[in-house]
Amino acid sequence: MKQENYNVSTEGYYGEFGGAYIPEILYAAVDSLTSSYKKIIEDSEFQKEYQKLLADYAGRPSPLYFAERMSEKYRCRIYLKREDLNHTGSHKINNAIGQVLIAKRMGKTRIIAETGAGQHGVATATVCALMNIDCTVYMGKTDVERQNLNVRKMEMLGAKVVSVTSGNMTLKDAVNEAIRDWVCNPSDTHYVIGSTVGPHPYPDMVARLQSVIGKEIKLQLEEKTGRNFPEYLVACVGGGSNAAGTVYEYLDDLRVKIVLAEAAGEGLYSGRSAATIHLGTTGIIHGAKTLLMQNRDGQIEEPYSISAGLDYPGIGPMHANLARTGRCEVLAIEDFEAVDAAFELTRMEGIIPALESAHALGVFRKKRFGKEDTVVVCLSGRGDKDMETYINRIGG
Ligand SMILES: *Cc1c(COP(=O)(O)O)cnc(C)c1O
Repeated sequence: MKQENYNVSTEGYYGEFGGAYIPEILYAAVDSLTSSYKKIIEDSEFQKEYQKLLADYAGRPSPLYFAERMSEKYRCRIYLKREDLNHTGSHKINNAIGQVLIAKRMGKTRIIAETGAGQHGVATATVCALMNIDCTVYMGKTDVERQNLNVRKMEMLGAKVVSVTSGNMTLKDAVNEAIRDWVCNPSDTHYVIGSTVGPHPYPDMVARLQSVIGKEIKLQLEEKTGRNFPEYLVACVGGGSNAAGTVYEYLDDLRVKIVLAEAAGEGLYSGRSAATIHLGTTGIIHGAKTLLMQNRDGQIEEPYSISAGLDYPGIGPMHANLARTGRCEVLAIEDFEAVDAAFELTRMEGIIPALESAHALGVFRKKRFGKEDTVVVCLSGRGDKDMETYINRIGG
């Protein structure tokens, strides 16, 4: 494989993907974020505060757990990176803490966010409660009805939840509405995007904030195996943030192979999936040039997955480029495969995973690893929020 640049360019591109395709009225806000995010993240005072919250508030480092029974079954050495044990139940809190800290340093007094299943909304509302900052979360009306517990949590945390009734009333419409809000309030408001999507510098900023996952994997592998890299890293991709955090430190280390799991829903060619990398074509969504599911007229196709967190019609530009350059392998995992994998992990290791994370576990059904291979899987979240789906599956 030829050595490519897998990281973002100074212009905000990953190969041909990325950039900042935004309305003119947001130029100043995005520009000031672009010129300050790296300086802030690298600042030692910021790092001190960020690391302290990651440790004492979010509960990091998350354990790297050797899954012995799973390893025996799949004849390789499987380690699970336990992001499910973080406060609020997933990796999303890493990004929320970081971005709200950045916003405060930029003098912003108001936070807005979009959410699909509600996980990112809850993480953002949590951090805003902690830091006593005003918070508004946009959520499609369909999702408000499907994910009522998370709506109640956000409200209890003091956030205002706006039910979005445009389009299909799901995540993509919530993003549009959040952007609309930002256009009206660019000077005092920071928009906390929940994944490695959106205009530059968001994909890079979110990847850097999530890279704590891979930094810990490095140290933990060294301690447990005497070697600081695995043969394989495996993660699910919705927008791509848990995957970006898992692989960030290893992007240029070609000894480490990357496997991404996307949601094939009811089947890759069923017309009911969210397999953006397999089915997508190049276009612009939410401010970035990337792969997205669209029809020939450029209309965005409504994605579907059993897992609300993977149900996004685009993909981060970093991941589009990793796929395009062959740096990663992308497997499409169907609903039933993810559910089977979730039950298997529950019965074999006593861990109920989020449906999103179960897609990463579904990789073992599709791909064989060598007996000596160390395979690190990012277990991005816990399954509490998905119990209703699991219960219905047992019943049915
Ligand atoms: C939101 C979410 C995802 C998908 O988002 P990424 O940005 O692709 O990581 C995956 N797993 C869990 C548990 C989530 O909550």
